[in-house]
Amino acid sequence: MSRVVSGIGMTSQRTRTRMIDRLREEGILDEQVLAAIAAVPRHVFVEEALASRAYEDSALPLGYSQTISQPYIVARMIELLREGRKLGKTLEIGAGSGYQAAVLAQLTDEVYAIERIEPLLARAKLNLRAIQQFRVRLKHADGQLGLPEAAPFDTIIVAAAANRVPHALLQQLALGGRMLLPLGTGEQFLLMVERRAEGYVETRLDSVRFVPLLSGLE
Ligand code: SAH
Repeated sequence: MSRVVSGIGMTSQRTRTRMIDRLREEGILDEQVLAAIAAVPRHVFVEEALASRAYEDSALPLGYSQTISQPYIVARMIELLREGRKLGKTLEIGAGSGYQAAVLAQLTDEVYAIERIEPLLARAKLNLRAIQQFRVRLKHADGQLGLPEAAPFDTIIVAAAANRVPHALLQQLALGGRMLLPLGTGEQFLLMVERRAEGYVETRLDSVRFVPLLSGLE
């Protein structure tokens, strides 16, 4: 009798479908966001030893004290940013494994992602190449300064928690654009910032838990 080794290839389709059902139960309504999540194989973005846990709804370690975000929070943030409009030119701060950038790239043609830890960025590049995603433009830089050469952005999504909203990111937000970022050190919450003709409008949303937004490069 031949033994079937249940590799990720065997199980990934079923477990991925289950992950989408769970996100729906947790309240994600935007079908395009669910489809984008379903299209990205998360196991490619986590360390091999953790691949079997890639479709659980949990944050997983990436090394360098960083984590790949929980699928629910990725879906929730993108759903909030999309509400009633297209993402347009999008900037992600904190590319980590490249997972969230890959999900964003399912929804918009122009994705820029910044990471301050060089080895993580190198791995993100490999991960994106492995899934044939060549549209994401990655940069090794301090995301607090944004990406002036590509600004303004219709969407800015920050994957690490700041103490206050980085000024450069406000400046690089297009008119009609939206930025979503985790804010706070102990207690954290998501802050939505919309840039309107009359000024910036801030809305405090869900409680969250993110790694800190740090200065400088590694
Ligand atoms: N979005 C990632 C997970 C991000 S974890 C994914 O899908 O895998 C947060 C990331 O933000 C970490 O990789 C961390 O190194 C990065 N980070 C923290 N401060 C930063 C800064 N100032 N500029 C760019 N990246 C930063």
